[in-house]
Amino acid sequence: MAEIIDGKAVSAHVRKQVADGVKGLSESAGITPGLAAVLVGEDPASEIYVRNKRKACEDAGMYSEEHRLPEETTEEELLALVHRLNTDDKVHGILVQLPLPGHINETNILRAVTPLKDVDGFHPYNVGLLVEGHPRFISCTPHGIMKMLEYYDIDVKGKEAVVVGRSNIVGKPVAILLLHSHATVTICHSRTRDLGEVTRRADILVAAIGRASFITADMVKEGAVVIDVGINRNEQGKLAGDVDFEAVKEKASWITPVPGGVGPMTISMLLWNTLESAKSFAAGKS
Ligand code: NDP
Repeated sequence: MAEIIDGKAVSAHVRKQVADGVKGLSESAGITPGLAAVLVGEDPASEIYVRNKRKACEDAGMYSEEHRLPEETTEEELLALVHRLNTDDKVHGILVQLPLPGHINETNILRAVTPLKDVDGFHPYNVGLLVEGHPRFISCTPHGIMKMLEYYDIDVKGKEAVVVGRSNIVGKPVAILLLHSHATVTICHSRTRDLGEVTRRADILVAAIGRASFITADMVKEGAVVIDVGINRNEQGKLAGDVDFEAVKEKASWITPVPGGVGPMTISMLLWNTLESAKSFAAGKS
């Protein structure tokens, strides 16, 4: 029976560290870390994220501002806002909430955010630094996963790690981070042949697929550490991860639940990155 990796507990720990850091920076340098969130259109899930982010910023003593733009905003208008935020001294982190409406080119917008304030870690410059092994901002969900492993003293060195999913926001960066922590890493995707044969080799299994309860117990090795990134609605409309939690927990040594696992970590690491950014600005490194 697996032990639970409690994302809420780790998250509370990180947020306390961030709040202390915010206080310290304010006392030492007179700077309050600031996060600007940009939301275009009215995606209900994005609305919830942005609201939660604002609350988390306030709780940590950070400055936050929101820019809610109508669905019909043009790419030029959005670029103009991003350029303005790039040079706004109150703002140390810029977050453009995805998805953007179809008429706006996401790549153009994400590349317009200065890498110095790219707290999501999506800019190619920051992706390059991460791959090279000298990250400035590590994207928040993968960063949160590594924090959870660290918190519970789960050593990945020399272990077989299998990541299912190869997205730019989760699968690829988490695979790179595991690699840097000296795991032997395999990345799987929808064209992987005999997925179960690969996942059964995993000492550390990360599921970032987007399909409810897709990873079943027969795909998991006895004693594996299972990290479930998925946020899905199952057929009953209930929140479900990518892992069949009830069955897999009987086999795994550690497992993250959904909700209450990886999810809470994402916003915590966003705050962490914003604080780090503000510290760099304070030190004149930027
Ligand atoms: P994407 O849709 O961008 O990527 C999904 C990946 O899963 C793709 O690489 C895809 O392969 C792979 N995949 C899909 N079907 C299969 C299959 N049958 N077998 C093997 N691989 C498959 O999703 P994201 O990475 O953005 O998100 C993944 C999940 O994590 C979602 O549920 C999302 O909601 C959740 N999420 C949670 C966050 C959190 O804070 N906890 C943050 C971000 C995401 P291919 O590349 O071949 O298409």
